[in-house]
Amino acid sequence: MKTVAIDFDNTIAPWGPLFDLDPPFPGVVDAMTDLRAAGYRIIILTSRLSPTWWQNGCYKFDYQDPDAFGEANVSYVVDYLQYWKIPFDHITSEKVQADAYFDDRAIRVEPGLLANDISEYLIVENKKGKS
Ligand SMILES: [Mg+2]
Repeated sequence: MKTVAIDFDNTIAPWGPLFDLDPPFPGVVDAMTDLRAAGYRIIILTSRLSPTWWQNGCYKFDYQDPDAFGEANVSYVVDYLQYWKIPFDHITSEKVQADAYFDDRAIRVEPGLLANDISEYLIVENKKGKS
């Protein structure tokens, strides 16, 4: 079975208040339903399920307990996906093996061309910093 890993924030759902996101981006529900109908296994890959992020990020969101912050994130993502009837098989913060990864911050790297891609990235970022 083919597997795809799909980011949550700013890929499925527009980024916004941590626990009060707007509806999914237009077409997302239908597209992911099509994926499921085509037989794909769907993994939601999100740092919201990362205990490291819980440790580092909880205080920014007025949580004193990283595990409580984590539980809030897990249940929010699950509830959001179920509410909007977005099909998924598994949610994780681990980069599990997949045939494709969809992420708003991804940069596609051709095998062997990482050095070139980093150089181009730095040039673009440097220009942004000067504007
Ligand atoms: Mg994202």
